[in-house]
Amino acid sequence: MIYVFCLGGEMMESLPCKGCRGLCCGPVPITKDELKKIKKKIQSMPKKLREELKNQPRMPGTCIFYDEKKDGCGIYSARPSICQAFGYYKNLACFRNPKVASNRNYVAKDSPVGILSVDFTWKDFI
Ligand code: SF4
Ligand code: SF4
Repeated sequence: MIYVFCLGGEMMESLPCKGCRGLCCGPVPITKDELKKIKKKIQSMPKKLREELKNQPRMPGTCIFYDEKKDGCGIYSARPSICQAFGYYKNLACFRNPKVASNRNYVAKDSPVGILSVDFTWKDFI
C-alpha cells in the first residue's frame, strides 16, 4: 500500500517503516528540548515496560530506544525531529526506498547538545 502526505507543500509518498529491524536507528543528534521530552516520556512509562525496553539485547550501534520486539521506535511520540524527518530529505534518504526523499536537504532548527546512544544513554533518562 502506498501512503501519501504533504511535506512543505509537496506531496510525498510515505515509508512503511516495518520489517526494517532498526536499519536506520543508530546514534542521532538531539537538542536540549528533545532531551527533556525524551526524559519525560521515559519517566512516564510504567516501570515494567521501561525495564523491558531498556534490557532488550540490541546490535552494537543500534539506538538505545529501538524496540526489537515491536520492530519500531520505543519512544515514538517523543522521537527526535531528525528521526521524524528520516527518509524524506536528500541527505536523510531511506536505505530501502531512497526515491521517497525530496530534493531538499534536512537542516536542523536547533543546535544539538549531544548524540543519543553515545553521549546520552539509559542512565541519563531514569
Ligand atoms: S526510514 Fe526506511 S529504513 Fe528506516 S524504518 Fe522507515 S522504511 Fe525502514
Ligand atoms: S529515537 Fe526512535 S526513531 Fe530515533 S533512532 Fe532511536 S529508535 Fe529510531
